[in-house]
Amino acid sequence: MENKPAIQRLSLIDTHAHLDMKDFTADCDAVVARAVDAGVDKILTAGTDVKSSARAVDLSQKYPQVFAAVGIHPHEAGNVQKADINRIAEISKSPKVVALGEMGLDFYRNYSPREAQLQVLKWQLELATEVSLPVIIHDRQATSDIQKILAEWVKLIYPRCPGVIHCFSGNKQSAAKYMEMGFYLAFGGYISYPGSNASEVIKTIPYERLLVETDCPFLPPQKYRGKRNEPAYAVLTAEVLAGILGKTVQAVAEQTTENAERLFGFDRG
Ligand SMILES: [Zn+2]
Repeated sequence: MENKPAIQRLSLIDTHAHLDMKDFTADCDAVVARAVDAGVDKILTAGTDVKSSARAVDLSQKYPQVFAAVGIHPHEAGNVQKADINRIAEISKSPKVVALGEMGLDFYRNYSPREAQLQVLKWQLELATEVSLPVIIHDRQATSDIQKILAEWVKLIYPRCPGVIHCFSGNKQSAAKYMEMGFYLAFGGYISYPGSNASEVIKTIPYERLLVETDCPFLPPQKYRGKRNEPAYAVLTAEVLAGILGKTVQAVAEQTTENAERLFGFDRG
Protein backbone atom coordinates (compact mmCIF):
# COMPACT_ATOMS: atom_id res chain seq x y z
CA MET A 1 0.00 0.00 0.00
CA GLU A 2 1.13 3.55 -0.62
CA ASN A 3 2.09 6.01 2.10
CA LYS A 4 3.45 3.40 4.44
CA PRO A 5 4.06 5.10 7.77
CA ALA A 6 7.55 4.70 9.19
CA ILE A 7 6.65 2.22 11.89
CA GLN A 8 7.84 -1.18 12.89
CA ARG A 9 6.73 -3.79 10.35
CA LEU A 10 3.45 -5.51 11.18
CA SER A 11 3.00 -9.24 10.97
CA LEU A 12 -0.65 -10.18 10.60
CA ILE A 13 -2.59 -13.22 9.50
CA ASP A 14 -5.70 -13.04 7.34
CA THR A 15 -7.54 -16.04 8.76
CA HIS A 16 -10.30 -16.13 6.16
CA ALA A 17 -9.99 -15.38 2.45
CA HIS A 18 -11.41 -16.82 -0.76
CA LEU A 19 -8.42 -16.48 -3.05
CA ASP A 20 -9.73 -19.28 -5.28
CA MET A 21 -12.67 -17.16 -6.42
CA LYS A 22 -12.66 -15.78 -9.94
CA ASP A 23 -12.26 -12.24 -8.58
CA PHE A 24 -8.57 -13.11 -8.01
CA THR A 25 -7.82 -15.17 -11.11
CA ALA A 26 -6.25 -12.33 -13.05
CA ASP A 27 -3.94 -10.90 -10.38
CA CYS A 28 -3.47 -13.38 -7.54
CA ASP A 29 0.35 -12.94 -7.57
CA ALA A 30 -0.06 -9.18 -7.10
CA VAL A 31 -2.71 -9.67 -4.40
CA VAL A 32 -0.42 -11.95 -2.38
CA ALA A 33 2.52 -9.57 -2.91
CA ARG A 34 0.47 -6.58 -1.72
CA ALA A 35 -0.58 -8.54 1.36
CA VAL A 36 3.04 -9.26 2.26
CA ASP A 37 3.98 -5.61 1.62
CA ALA A 38 1.22 -4.52 3.99
CA GLY A 39 2.41 -6.94 6.70
CA VAL A 40 -0.01 -9.81 6.12
CA ASP A 41 2.38 -12.74 6.21
CA LYS A 42 -0.08 -15.62 6.13
CA ILE A 43 -3.41 -16.04 4.38
CA LEU A 44 -5.82 -18.85 5.13
CA THR A 45 -7.96 -19.42 2.06
CA ALA A 46 -11.19 -21.34 2.61
CA GLY A 47 -12.94 -23.63 0.16
CA THR A 48 -16.70 -23.53 -0.33
CA ASP A 49 -17.25 -26.82 -2.18
CA VAL A 50 -15.11 -29.74 -3.37
CA LYS A 51 -13.73 -27.94 -6.44
CA SER A 52 -13.07 -24.72 -4.59
CA SER A 53 -11.37 -26.64 -1.78
CA ALA A 54 -9.11 -28.36 -4.28
CA ARG A 55 -8.22 -24.94 -5.72
CA ALA A 56 -7.52 -23.66 -2.21
CA VAL A 57 -5.06 -26.52 -1.75
CA ASP A 58 -3.44 -25.73 -5.13
CA LEU A 59 -2.96 -22.11 -4.05
CA SER A 60 -1.41 -23.24 -0.77
CA GLN A 61 1.10 -25.23 -2.79
CA LYS A 62 1.86 -22.32 -5.07
CA TYR A 63 2.39 -19.58 -2.46
CA PRO A 64 4.45 -20.07 0.72
CA GLN A 65 2.20 -17.54 2.51
CA VAL A 66 -1.06 -19.32 1.68
CA PHE A 67 -2.64 -22.09 3.77
CA ALA A 68 -5.91 -23.87 3.05
CA ALA A 69 -9.15 -24.82 4.73
CA VAL A 70 -11.30 -27.37 2.93
CA GLY A 71 -15.03 -27.78 3.27
CA ILE A 72 -18.52 -27.13 2.01
CA HIS A 73 -20.30 -23.83 2.55
CA PRO A 74 -23.97 -24.01 3.56
CA HIS A 75 -24.88 -22.23 0.29
CA GLU A 76 -23.48 -25.25 -1.57
CA ALA A 77 -25.03 -27.92 0.66
CA GLY A 78 -28.00 -28.59 -1.62
CA ASN A 79 -26.41 -31.14 -3.93
CA VAL A 80 -23.82 -32.61 -1.61
CA GLN A 81 -23.55 -36.36 -1.13
CA LYS A 82 -21.55 -38.32 1.41
CA ALA A 83 -19.06 -39.02 -1.41
CA ASP A 84 -18.25 -35.30 -1.53
CA ILE A 85 -17.36 -35.37 2.15
CA ASN A 86 -15.05 -38.29 1.38
CA ARG A 87 -13.36 -36.11 -1.25
CA ILE A 88 -12.94 -33.34 1.32
CA ALA A 89 -11.46 -35.93 3.68
CA GLU A 90 -8.94 -36.92 1.03
CA ILE A 91 -7.80 -33.42 0.20
CA SER A 92 -7.66 -32.49 3.89
CA LYS A 93 -4.54 -34.67 4.07
CA SER A 94 -2.56 -32.13 2.06
CA PRO A 95 0.21 -30.73 4.28
CA LYS A 96 -0.92 -27.09 4.19
CA VAL A 97 -4.53 -27.81 5.10
CA VAL A 98 -4.92 -26.42 8.62
CA ALA A 99 -8.72 -26.41 9.06
CA LEU A 100 -12.03 -27.71 7.75
CA GLY A 101 -14.46 -25.14 6.37
CA GLU A 102 -16.04 -23.07 5.69
CA MET A 103 -19.07 -24.88 6.99
CA GLY A 104 -22.15 -23.88 8.91
CA LEU A 105 -25.72 -22.77 8.53
CA ASP A 106 -27.15 -19.82 6.63
CA PHE A 107 -30.81 -19.33 7.41
CA TYR A 108 -30.68 -15.79 6.04
CA ARG A 109 -30.17 -16.52 2.38
CA ASN A 110 -31.40 -20.13 2.50
CA TYR A 111 -29.72 -20.94 -0.82
CA SER A 112 -29.83 -24.60 0.22
CA PRO A 113 -32.66 -26.38 2.02
CA ARG A 114 -32.19 -26.30 5.79
CA GLU A 115 -32.22 -30.08 6.08
CA ALA A 116 -29.35 -30.32 3.61
CA GLN A 117 -27.40 -27.61 5.44
CA LEU A 118 -27.82 -29.46 8.73
CA GLN A 119 -26.78 -32.80 7.25
CA VAL A 120 -23.69 -31.38 5.53
CA LEU A 121 -22.63 -29.55 8.68
CA LYS A 122 -22.98 -32.73 10.74
CA TRP A 123 -20.96 -34.77 8.25
CA GLN A 124 -18.19 -32.18 8.32
CA LEU A 125 -18.11 -32.06 12.11
CA GLU A 126 -17.78 -35.86 12.14
CA LEU A 127 -14.89 -35.52 9.73
CA ALA A 128 -13.28 -32.84 11.91
CA THR A 129 -13.45 -35.24 14.86
CA GLU A 130 -11.78 -37.91 12.77
CA VAL A 131 -9.00 -35.82 11.28
CA SER A 132 -8.46 -33.59 14.34
CA LEU A 133 -8.65 -30.29 12.50
CA PRO A 134 -10.27 -27.08 13.79
CA VAL A 135 -13.41 -25.92 11.99
CA ILE A 136 -14.32 -22.56 10.42
CA ILE A 137 -17.96 -21.83 11.10
CA HIS A 138 -20.34 -19.66 9.09
CA ASP A 139 -23.34 -18.65 11.19
CA ARG A 140 -25.91 -16.42 9.54
CA GLN A 141 -29.17 -16.12 11.42
CA ALA A 142 -28.79 -19.67 12.61
CA THR A 143 -27.10 -19.13 15.96
CA SER A 144 -29.41 -21.16 18.16
CA ASP A 145 -29.35 -24.18 15.83
CA ILE A 146 -25.59 -23.98 15.36
CA GLN A 147 -24.89 -23.53 19.03
CA LYS A 148 -27.01 -26.56 19.88
CA ILE A 149 -25.08 -28.72 17.40
CA LEU A 150 -21.66 -27.34 18.35
CA ALA A 151 -22.27 -27.67 22.09
CA GLU A 152 -22.66 -31.44 21.62
CA TRP A 153 -19.72 -31.66 19.24
CA VAL A 154 -17.23 -29.82 21.45
CA LYS A 155 -17.83 -32.40 24.18
CA LEU A 156 -16.64 -35.11 21.79
CA ILE A 157 -13.39 -33.38 20.95
CA TYR A 158 -12.66 -31.82 24.36
CA PRO A 159 -10.07 -30.59 25.28
CA ARG A 160 -9.02 -29.91 21.70
CA CYS A 161 -9.76 -26.37 20.49
CA PRO A 162 -12.86 -26.51 18.26
CA GLY A 163 -12.16 -23.65 15.82
CA VAL A 164 -13.40 -20.21 14.89
CA ILE A 165 -16.69 -18.46 14.26
CA HIS A 166 -15.86 -16.44 11.19
CA CYS A 167 -17.28 -12.97 10.44
CA PHE A 168 -18.75 -12.83 13.91
CA SER A 169 -21.63 -10.38 14.06
CA GLY A 170 -23.67 -11.72 16.96
CA ASN A 171 -24.43 -10.17 20.32
CA LYS A 172 -22.63 -10.44 23.67
CA GLN A 173 -24.67 -13.45 24.80
CA SER A 174 -23.89 -15.36 21.66
CA ALA A 175 -20.20 -14.42 21.92
CA ALA A 176 -20.15 -15.61 25.54
CA LYS A 177 -21.67 -18.95 24.56
CA TYR A 178 -19.07 -19.47 21.82
CA MET A 179 -16.32 -18.52 24.30
CA GLU A 180 -17.60 -21.08 26.74
CA MET A 181 -17.40 -23.74 24.03
CA GLY A 182 -13.78 -22.80 23.37
CA PHE A 183 -14.19 -21.08 20.01
CA TYR A 184 -12.23 -18.13 18.70
CA LEU A 185 -14.09 -15.21 17.10
CA ALA A 186 -12.88 -13.58 13.88
CA PHE A 187 -13.74 -10.07 12.76
CA GLY A 188 -13.43 -8.46 9.35
CA GLY A 189 -13.76 -5.15 7.52
CA TYR A 190 -17.43 -4.77 8.44
CA ILE A 191 -16.44 -3.60 11.92
CA SER A 192 -15.40 -0.31 10.27
CA TYR A 193 -18.89 0.35 8.86
CA PRO A 194 -20.81 3.25 10.35
CA GLY A 195 -23.47 1.79 12.57
CA SER A 196 -21.49 -1.35 13.37
CA ASN A 197 -22.05 -2.25 17.00
CA ALA A 198 -19.20 -4.74 17.02
CA SER A 199 -17.11 -2.65 19.42
CA GLU A 200 -19.33 -3.41 22.41
CA VAL A 201 -19.07 -7.13 21.72
CA ILE A 202 -15.34 -7.03 20.95
CA LYS A 203 -14.60 -5.47 24.34
CA THR A 204 -16.15 -8.50 26.06
CA ILE A 205 -14.03 -11.08 24.23
CA PRO A 206 -10.82 -12.34 25.82
CA TYR A 207 -7.87 -10.90 23.90
CA GLU A 208 -6.44 -14.36 23.31
CA ARG A 209 -9.56 -15.45 21.38
CA LEU A 210 -9.63 -12.65 18.78
CA LEU A 211 -8.72 -13.19 15.14
CA VAL A 212 -8.51 -10.89 12.12
CA GLU A 213 -9.87 -11.88 8.72
CA THR A 214 -11.02 -10.31 5.47
CA ASP A 215 -13.52 -12.79 3.93
CA CYS A 216 -12.24 -11.29 0.68
CA PRO A 217 -13.41 -10.67 -2.01
CA PHE A 218 -16.46 -9.86 0.15
CA LEU A 219 -17.02 -7.27 2.89
CA PRO A 220 -14.27 -4.70 2.20
CA PRO A 221 -13.49 -2.20 4.96
CA GLN A 222 -15.34 1.12 4.80
CA LYS A 223 -12.49 2.78 2.90
CA TYR A 224 -12.87 0.34 -0.01
CA ARG A 225 -16.60 -0.24 0.07
CA GLY A 226 -18.03 -1.14 -3.29
CA LYS A 227 -14.64 -2.50 -4.37
CA ARG A 228 -13.07 -5.93 -4.15
CA ASN A 229 -11.71 -6.80 -0.73
CA GLU A 230 -8.23 -8.39 -0.47
CA PRO A 231 -5.94 -9.76 2.26
CA ALA A 232 -3.81 -6.57 2.51
CA TYR A 233 -6.86 -4.81 3.97
CA ALA A 234 -6.68 -7.01 7.08
CA VAL A 235 -4.39 -4.25 8.36
CA LEU A 236 -7.31 -1.80 8.37
CA THR A 237 -9.34 -4.18 10.52
CA ALA A 238 -6.41 -4.54 12.94
CA GLU A 239 -6.39 -0.73 13.16
CA VAL A 240 -10.09 -0.62 14.01
CA LEU A 241 -9.60 -3.34 16.64
CA ALA A 242 -6.71 -1.36 18.09
CA GLY A 243 -8.95 1.70 18.38
CA ILE A 244 -11.70 -0.28 20.09
CA LEU A 245 -9.33 -2.00 22.52
CA GLY A 246 -7.11 1.00 23.21
CA LYS A 247 -4.01 -0.87 21.99
CA THR A 248 -1.46 -0.16 19.30
CA VAL A 249 -1.93 -1.82 15.93
CA GLN A 250 1.39 -3.62 16.53
CA ALA A 251 0.04 -5.09 19.76
CA VAL A 252 -3.15 -6.23 18.05
CA ALA A 253 -1.16 -7.74 15.19
CA GLU A 254 1.11 -9.59 17.58
CA GLN A 255 -1.71 -10.95 19.71
CA THR A 256 -4.02 -11.98 16.86
CA THR A 257 -1.11 -13.61 15.04
CA GLU A 258 -0.19 -15.55 18.15
CA ASN A 259 -3.85 -16.58 18.47
CA ALA A 260 -4.07 -17.72 14.86
CA GLU A 261 -0.81 -19.68 15.19
CA ARG A 262 -2.12 -21.38 18.34
CA LEU A 263 -5.43 -22.30 16.71
CA PHE A 264 -4.26 -23.39 13.26
CA GLY A 265 -0.68 -24.51 13.97
CA PHE A 266 0.47 -23.39 10.52
CA ASP A 267 3.87 -24.94 10.82
CA ARG A 268 2.69 -28.41 11.85
CA GLY A 269 2.92 -29.70 8.27
ZN1 LIG B 1 -16.10 -16.96 3.71
